[in-house]
Amino acid sequence: MAVMSALSRHVFHPLWDLKDRSRRLRVLRELERSQWLPQEELERRQRLKLEALLRHAADRSPFYTRLFRESGFDATQFESQSFARLPLLTKSAIRASTDDILARGYDRSQLGQHKTGGSTGVSLTTYFDRAWLETRIADAMRSDQWAGYRHGMKVAALWGNPPIPRTFKERLRARLLDRFIYLDTINLNEQTMRAFVDLWRAERPEVLFGHSHSLFVFSRYLAEKGIRDLRPRGIVSTSMMLLANERDVIEAAFGCKVTDRYGCEEVGLIACECEVHSGLHLNIEHLYVEFLRPDGTAAQPGEEGAIVVTDLLNYAMPLIRYRIEDVGVPTARRCPCGRGLPLMERVVGRVADYLKRRDGSMVAGVSLVERTLTAIEGIEQLQIVQTAVDLIQLNVVRAPDFSQETEVALIREMQHVFGPGIEFRASYLERIPQERSGKYRFSICQI
Ligand SMILES: [Zn+2]
Repeated sequence: MAVMSALSRHVFHPLWDLKDRSRRLRVLRELERSQWLPQEELERRQRLKLEALLRHAADRSPFYTRLFRESGFDATQFESQSFARLPLLTKSAIRASTDDILARGYDRSQLGQHKTGGSTGVSLTTYFDRAWLETRIADAMRSDQWAGYRHGMKVAALWGNPPIPRTFKERLRARLLDRFIYLDTINLNEQTMRAFVDLWRAERPEVLFGHSHSLFVFSRYLAEKGIRDLRPRGIVSTSMMLLANERDVIEAAFGCKVTDRYGCEEVGLIACECEVHSGLHLNIEHLYVEFLRPDGTAAQPGEEGAIVVTDLLNYAMPLIRYRIEDVGVPTARRCPCGRGLPLMERVVGRVADYLKRRDGSMVAGVSLVERTLTAIEGIEQLQIVQTAVDLIQLNVVRAPDFSQETEVALIREMQHVFGPGIEFRASYLERIPQERSGKYRFSICQI
């Protein structure tokens, strides 16, 4: 096992990068060094990147050229008070102005794209170039290391819709580089969890990745069955808010600390705990992060604020003062680990209950996002509420491209996932609000 991990890390990964002409591992090596720079130096570099991005956006993006002019913001003479007065970029503004936001000189057909369900179940498409994607992957790889994971190790993942390698290249990659075993959270029941325990014992993965709530459900199963021999070196919880009680159950089941990670498709990794687990280190080499009160002024350390990010590296589609719609708590504390990346205390974001089929098996709500919201045209926002064993309510906010086919496709997909015996009812709303805490519930199980 260790031989294969070492081969994968030191031979197959570098060769694959060479073949693809990827900067990924080179950026990772730079990030491994820069994390130890003093905070003041990292902030100085961040400021230079921010100023360069703003000049680029003023020059090349019709949306920002106009916005800066209307707001009286001079990108050539950066001044933080006037920057803080720029209007926030909302998801609906992005959707309405995508073409205008894209910078001149970038051919859309050459760009990558992400279609995401965001943190509040609102669908959105963002674009990026290859350099951005490689850096974003390197960011994640660095924070993987804080959890004890080195690329090349075998990984256990609790995710919905796991990718199935089909082509020869994909199968080769899965064998040599992306060495994963999966528990599919779209179908969680006694048999699938039992089979995954057997697979784990045979394959002996070294780290575990998953959505917090799926990690929790699987941990509870292990505790109930008295299974105590699944012992990863690290556990990374992503994509959802990690609740304190769930963290306790997961750590007890695996005898291992959980690393809480926060990010989103649109901008990549935002913050992650290090091995000290004393708050999350902000990824200020890639982002400028603000925490704002409802009146738009900066939240003080210890105070909750809306998380607003500026992506310092996305030159194709500049996202400036983008409001993610999660809430976080800034802090002035410094981490005893010695890294110069500043901390935030915690994130209040998306939660998603498990829903139930008639046969009692469970469907991870968060895994439904990519099968419904981001896969079906015409939905702006979605919330799934199971009110009875045989009734699921779909709260839908229509997008401009909504049609009758949207509802047909949505219900067809839900029937496909849940099987027979459950009725689906769609209702149409103007907006699906967050809870006052800032928490957004994508799926709610009332039974
Ligand atoms: Zn630290």
